[in-house]
Amino acid sequence: MVNYIILGPPGSGKGTQAKKLAEKLGLFYFGTGDLMRKEAEKGTPLGKEFQAVWDKGQGELVSEELTDGFFEEKIRENLEKSIVFDGFPRTLSQVRNLEKIYGKLSTKFKVLNIEVSSGDLIQRMQTRRVCSKCGKIFFRPLESGIRQCDVCGGELTQRQEDTPETIKKRIEVYNKETQPVIDYYKEKGILINIDGAPAISAVEKEIWEKVNE
Ligand code: AMP
Repeated sequence: MVNYIILGPPGSGKGTQAKKLAEKLGLFYFGTGDLMRKEAEKGTPLGKEFQAVWDKGQGELVSEELTDGFFEEKIRENLEKSIVFDGFPRTLSQVRNLEKIYGKLSTKFKVLNIEVSSGDLIQRMQTRRVCSKCGKIFFRPLESGIRQCDVCGGELTQRQEDTPETIKKRIEVYNKETQPVIDYYKEKGILINIDGAPAISAVEKEIWEKVNE
């Protein structure tokens, strides 16, 4: 059984690519950001605590005290499936938790690292809009005048975490917390680097080729 971990800074397109890969391989998509946003929308006490961190606009990760149990429970529910992880593990401590959860299971991991320069990231994220109805993502500045989703007509909104200030902070957090995860997997010899700069379809092609090598 092979599981995939998709790493990449905010705005690198890792979510899009992780979903595409899961669909093509028929694997289970496990996106921590999506799971947490769903919990926040449900308005549970835990979800409210996630939301409080995002409301600060500091681009911070949610603390281990709040997330460890939540992630572990969700992973254990899907342990018998092959999974594409998006947004997890994001810290070395989460790497250790993941290894503990899988323990002696013979699951193999392949790690895809989507690389994009900071300048490109900032530009991309400022134009990212999400459909409030169907969740589809568009890269479209509001000045373009088009504020409706091409697919379902829902209103396009900017994610709270995609404002310029927060973007810069999120990139800093990524460099500090997640770069050690990249280094760790590189040392283990299971890291596959992907150039995230080209168009979505080109990145998808590179991933597909490398996954099948
Ligand atoms: P994402 O959609 O993956 O960019 O995640 C959105 C936000 O959810 C992040 O900025 C974090 O605050 C939080 N988050 C997602 N995954 C994790 C994680 N593995 N650990 C801690 N916080 C996370």
